[in-house]
Amino acid sequence: MLHLPTVISISLLLNILIGGFFITVYNYKKQRCYLYLGASCAVFVVAQIFACLRIVLDNTFITHYLADLCIIISPVLAIIGLQKVTHTHSRTSRHFLTLIFVSAIILLPIYAVTAGQMVTSIIIATLFMYAAYLVHKMKCAAPIQQKILSACFISHSIIMYIQSMMLAAPHITNTVLDFHQPLQAILINHIILATATALVLPFLLFVNIEEKLQRLVNHDTLTCLLNRRGFFMQGQALLKQGIAHQQSFAVVMIDIDHFKRVNDRYGHSTGDTAIKWIAQHIMAQLNDHDIAARIGGEEFALLLPDQSLYQAKETAQRLCDAIREHSLHFKGNSIDLSVSVGISSSYDANASIKTLLDQADKRLYIAKAKGRDQVVICDHQAGQMVNNTM
Ligand code: GH3
Ligand code: MG
Ligand code: MG
Repeated sequence: MLHLPTVISISLLLNILIGGFFITVYNYKKQRCYLYLGASCAVFVVAQIFACLRIVLDNTFITHYLADLCIIISPVLAIIGLQKVTHTHSRTSRHFLTLIFVSAIILLPIYAVTAGQMVTSIIIATLFMYAAYLVHKMKCAAPIQQKILSACFISHSIIMYIQSMMLAAPHITNTVLDFHQPLQAILINHIILATATALVLPFLLFVNIEEKLQRLVNHDTLTCLLNRRGFFMQGQALLKQGIAHQQSFAVVMIDIDHFKRVNDRYGHSTGDTAIKWIAQHIMAQLNDHDIAARIGGEEFALLLPDQSLYQAKETAQRLCDAIREHSLHFKGNSIDLSVSVGISSSYDANASIKTLLDQADKRLYIAKAKGRDQVVICDHQAGQMVNNTM
């Protein structure tokens, strides 16, 4: 079996390092989740130190009562930290405070006897089960590490339930049972699992935050569509992939007509609602593989794989008709909107999103010049068609 003092020393050291790391990240990023996770590691260290003092100190209040209380507080802090990451409502924080308070009262008369350790084991077993549930529900791009962390929490929980049963067995059966060795093995297991959890958790947090940043960087917060950067990134990748399979692509540029007037007459927040309303109309016209983005203030771009210039024109015309035929009802106002559209298309292996977008933009301005609320697919005002491959 592993040497208990060695396991405790390694665990103390790792928890100090990981806790210090979390606190440093908190100082830098000011995100509360790191503070709670760092505090959880620190409290776990304090709990172990209190429990280890049993060797030299004959004060069960510190070595049992305070140690058990810290053992309960540590996973509570980790769970609050996890809730901050997963944005689970923090109203449960009050329930956790109640749990700590009730535990402190229940443990007070029984901490010196086995019952104290039993109650502590049952409470933390339940907390670990809840932590496993939270991790399982987390949306994360690292499913393997997520499963490992979930498994760590479930193992913690099972071990703690087994420990509580072993502690209860002599009292229930009224016999003297020597569980000293198994209980020591369980303690070692618990320390190893707690430390493994503290190691996997930071990785999972960083993957999660990285994913959120990636989403923020590539998406428009108002409409939830891609932004200009996201459109170029996803569009160029799709274009490259599609051209290899000789797919055709249409790029559509959409601009809301006389939008300044909407802002001037109804205010900026109504203007924002109008942008969202147009985005919903755009989404209603799209197929699964199409890409839509808000690439400027009230300008949108679409990439339509497998659509010829004429098919894209039909799609855009349906969009124009839908916007013209419906009114936006907001704050007691009925607002009529229209859009102008320019479209380009390509089968050319050298085409880029930029060149297709420039071409579509040019045609969009022809649509504006021709009186707005229309779709243009050629380069000349008179309507002379240009070659639709660029
Ligand atoms: P045109 O038909 O020629 O396009 O006329 P327009 O008034 O729409 O002209 P333009 O496209 O140049 O105007 C864009 C306006 O959109 C300017 C700006 O006040 C407004 N705008 C840009 N971004 C936002 C936004 O996020 N919210 C709101 N409410 N307005 C925006
Ligand atoms: Mg406009
Ligand atoms: Mg504009």
